Amino acid sequence: MTLKEMDQTYILHSYARNYVNFKKGKNATVFDEEGKDYIDFTSGIGVVSVGHANERVANAICKSAKNIIHISNLYLIEPQAILAKKLVERSGYDMRCFFANSGAEANEGAIKIARKYGEVEGEPKRYKIITLENSFHGRTITALKATGQEKMHNYFGPFPDGFVYAKDIDQIPSLCDEKTIAVMIELIQGEGGVEPQEKQKVKELEKFLKEKDILLIIDEVQTGIFRTGELLASNLYEIEPDIITLAKGLGGGVPIGAIMTNLKDIFKPGDHGSTFGGNYLVTSAANEVLDILQEEKDSGRLDERFIYFEEKTKALAKKFNSIVLKEVGIGFMRGLRIKDGDILSSLINEAFKNGVLVLKAGRNTLRFLPPLTITKDEIDKGFERLTEVFKKVAS
Ligand SMILES: *Cc1c(COP(=O)(O)O)cnc(C)c1O
Repeated sequence: MTLKEMDQTYILHSYARNYVNFKKGKNATVFDEEGKDYIDFTSGIGVVSVGHANERVANAICKSAKNIIHISNLYLIEPQAILAKKLVERSGYDMRCFFANSGAEANEGAIKIARKYGEVEGEPKRYKIITLENSFHGRTITALKATGQEKMHNYFGPFPDGFVYAKDIDQIPSLCDEKTIAVMIELIQGEGGVEPQEKQKVKELEKFLKEKDILLIIDEVQTGIFRTGELLASNLYEIEPDIITLAKGLGGGVPIGAIMTNLKDIFKPGDHGSTFGGNYLVTSAANEVLDILQEEKDSGRLDERFIYFEEKTKALAKKFNSIVLKEVGIGFMRGLRIKDGDILSSLINEAFKNGVLVLKAGRNTLRFLPPLTITKDEIDKGFERLTEVFKKVAS
């Protein structure tokens, strides 16, 4: 049985798989079993933030594995406490953290915090949560219901009550009523198509919600951990959310999610929990990831890479303006709006054949989420290959 047959026989078919068998990665380059190299502009959908096979993260993981991988949240977990301190101090937010295992799970926890706040904080009891159309908050039943894409809700009902979708940020205030407890948004919609919100509008929304005592939840599962240049996109937007959720880039590849909140005493023992959440292994890795990225930021290297990458994307957009509508995004969450979905699919397929991994987002966006440590050389190579691909598809 070939690997492909094994996969098709024994794995549920929930992904549109590419049948390539990657054997090795190094920073933003991966190699398949024939030794062919690919420039990785996806970082495993924003996960491998410090690149593949990062030596420092590998050492942190090995060290933890040889001491304690897992104990349980019934006991102190030193790297977990250190990680929480780093997230709180470096974000500048007066908050506490809870560690989960994924983005969806972090959002579930955020929703539980909001629901408990709405339950204990007085009459009338409030439970409604407003999210945006085209948002993405995860695949568990509640996170899926929070996701404002009706087509994804097919087959899986009934769902928990209390989710309301706003067309855009401007519509949110008019949807708030006496039952509304929270608003949950991404500052830059990722899966929805690399759609940054306007800073001024977010700040106005923040002010409105504060006055109404409605919680502001920012889903930073994709935007967090320096993806936009700051530790959190909330820092970049200069807002003070009540709850922030993190996952993707935080562990450099190990599964970890986090909730940060200023409602420091919302949970009592027993209200929430996770067997694996924040264990030695994943928090040891995440501590190393945060230190590496802080150094990249402080040295100016991160911003240099952003500027270089943005120049390259803009040049590509200009050169192929017959199929590219515009260039969008912030930091290393970038995209090209493509004339139509069919052209986009051809671009992604041809890019793969030509040794570049890129992503689709929304209906017609070619999305780039490279590792934050990508080298100039890797960027050059990736865009040389993409230029050939665009030439072929545009002609
Ligand atoms: C990926 C993503 C999620 C879901 O994260 P999982 O780890 O796949 O559960 C939630 N919110 C946003 C904004 C995401 O990009």
